[in-house]
Amino acid sequence: MTELDELARRRGFYFPSSETYGGVAGFYTYGPAGAALKANVEDAWRERFSTEEGHVEIDAPTVMPEPVFEASGHLDGFDDMLVRCPECAESHRADHLVEDNTDIEEAESFSPEEIAEVIAENGLTCPNCGTELAGEPVEDFNLMFETNIGPGSDRPGYLRPETAQGIFVEFPRLKEYARGQLPFGVTQIGRAYRNEISPRNAVVRTREFTQAELELFVSPGDPGPETSEFAGIEAPLYAASEQGPNGEPELRDIADAVSDGTIGSAYIGYYLAAAREWYERVGLDMNRFRFRQHQAGERAHYAADCWDAEADVSMPGEDPEWIELAGFADRGNYDLSKHAEGGADDFTVFEAYDEPKVVETATVDPDMSYLGPEFGGDAGAVAEALAELAESDRSAFEGEEVEVDGEVDGETHAVPVEKVNFAVEEVEENGEHVTPNVIEPSFGVDRAVYAALVHSYEADEIDGEERDVLRLPAEVAPTTVGVFPLMDKDGMGETARDLAAELRRAGLDAEYDDSGAIGRRYRRQDEVGTPFCVTVDYESLETDTVTLRERDSTAQVRLPTEELVGTLAELKAGRTDFEALRERHDEV
Ligand code: ATP
Repeated sequence: MTELDELARRRGFYFPSSETYGGVAGFYTYGPAGAALKANVEDAWRERFSTEEGHVEIDAPTVMPEPVFEASGHLDGFDDMLVRCPECAESHRADHLVEDNTDIEEAESFSPEEIAEVIAENGLTCPNCGTELAGEPVEDFNLMFETNIGPGSDRPGYLRPETAQGIFVEFPRLKEYARGQLPFGVTQIGRAYRNEISPRNAVVRTREFTQAELELFVSPGDPGPETSEFAGIEAPLYAASEQGPNGEPELRDIADAVSDGTIGSAYIGYYLAAAREWYERVGLDMNRFRFRQHQAGERAHYAADCWDAEADVSMPGEDPEWIELAGFADRGNYDLSKHAEGGADDFTVFEAYDEPKVVETATVDPDMSYLGPEFGGDAGAVAEALAELAESDRSAFEGEEVEVDGEVDGETHAVPVEKVNFAVEEVEENGEHVTPNVIEPSFGVDRAVYAALVHSYEADEIDGEERDVLRLPAEVAPTTVGVFPLMDKDGMGETARDLAAELRRAGLDAEYDDSGAIGRRYRRQDEVGTPFCVTVDYESLETDTVTLRERDSTAQVRLPTEELVGTLAELKAGRTDFEALRERHDEV
């Protein structure tokens, strides 16, 4: 267990679930501090990627019936590669085993047979008991949790492995709310479930986790935003062409990388830039952050371009450990086309042309008084086949007779052209039905929370005393302010309790604490990342002032109590900083 996991457990950020019954790998409970941090991260995501973008948010069920996943391709292809140890029976994710023990960086794109070969060639062994794994079969393992809907087993359902499908299947309704106007975006924050072969690294790889996904539906020809909309935002970009044993990401202006084609879509560039700023806002260290492009073999076959946001979550002194935080994919029209095939509704949008277009259409109006006696019960089908043929092949109507091949009872029927009333007409068309393309930023909330914790964690020394500190931004910290009386006597306790209540009424997360020496109380708040602490002392009772301490600098100022709510709200929203307060108020 890392020092951070130990702190996370002790201070109620996260811990393995159901431990009283022995627990089960891959399930974590967020304690009070973690649940508050996670909720704040979700709020910051919602604010940036839903509200600010003008998108709408939905909340779909986590159990969905089998046809959804037949259509989406998850039933057939949502697999990871599994290898089992013949000795201890422990299951391992075979591609991770290869990545962890060879120079191969992206083993996910290999086939199971190739992975089995690499395992044999490199003499890889079971990480649990050390037994050789050469010759053990590598199998595809479907990650979806199956369940039965209702009594009996005739209606299988699955826990959704991503929130996205809940948006795609409702597209026919959602487009109505968008009044059929592209582009429009729909977001969802919710649980997803994957029966991971080897859950690991605390909340980084679990079997139940939270995703925040945005599906932007765009017109097929839409070139995306102008690069000027996101120019000036730099990030380390690790392009597919640069990846390899000595590869290094390059710090680039994201807009330039779209202009020169490194990033294949302006929409993807736009979201990478937004994500770069958002991750910094929730507490990630931008020196330990990068965007990595998927290799061609790693990308889903339908995806035009795909980038992952990654963070190094190693602890001090360890080798870098890059994990995926979020994926950004240009998915084409794959998802909606699949649900259009499988579902009963219309997954297209009618797009009006700028100017109506005049187009020629070929029609038939068969003489049924001829077709009826001639073809009997097949007459209707022959008429339909003639109409289809007129649309697909006008030249078929150029001779004396037109033949409809094999369409009706597998036979060819000949009809005199004069009985068909074939005509070519000009009609005005105002638009066409299109299947939108999808741009998908897909964030894992748990990994954002974890990376924010790792990056903000520091063990330092204040006045000769060691302390663990989480330098979380005030916006996401579980508690905004600790409120302490110097001692719980002479009215200081009541004043501090009243003050904490007032701060909470103003919507600030305030925690009252009167136990132990004041230094200990500061340390306790530093450990959970509380950015500010207020102390009520004897002078407070006389002058109606309090001291306000900043976690990071440990500097303190004395300010009038009546200014406290406003000042803390400004600090939390980032509209002022502690430096400004030090200029305005007396330092303690
Ligand atoms: P990985 O390769 O790490 O398994 P993925 O490429 O399968 O991830 P996506 O399907 O792109 O992941 O899911 C989007 C996001 O959901 C990921 O970037 C990650 O943050 C989060 N996520 C996926 N699987 C898990 C998991 N088992 N536990 C926690 N978060 C997850």
